[in-house]
Amino acid sequence: MKDCIFCKIAAGEIPSNKVYEDETVIAFHDLEPQAPVHVLVIPKAHIASAQEITPENSGVVAHIFEVIAKLSGELGLEKGFRVINNCGEDGMQSVQHLHFHLLGQRKMGWPPFPPEE
Ligand code: AMP
Repeated sequence: MKDCIFCKIAAGEIPSNKVYEDETVIAFHDLEPQAPVHVLVIPKAHIASAQEITPENSGVVAHIFEVIAKLSGELGLEKGFRVINNCGEDGMQSVQHLHFHLLGQRKMGWPPFPPEE
């Protein structure tokens, strides 16, 4: 999709620090890492958000989780990791192309949001 930064990364039109690529999925290091390992795993095809996952396109989501499992071994995440998908305005999604954050090599906090004021 025109003007989508992750579509441009998927097409190789702008550079990324890639850790994995196949026909349908690409994974690369986040520009602003929130953990010692912070990788984004995305479908190459444009899906705007998790709200746009359908029976027709959900196969790539299953494949993304296979890639995450494989990457967890390669990136030293044997002790565990967190996968995050931010969706929409309330979910604080900033790039409108479906992506899963794979974070690890640090102990995560829970719950992941500040308490109500
Ligand atoms: P989200 O807020 O869930 O939409 O996450 C978008 C993520 O994309 C953020 O963590 C950004 O740091 C990251 N990001 C934005 N542009 C790039 C880029 N060109 N290369 C790598 N990561 C990026």
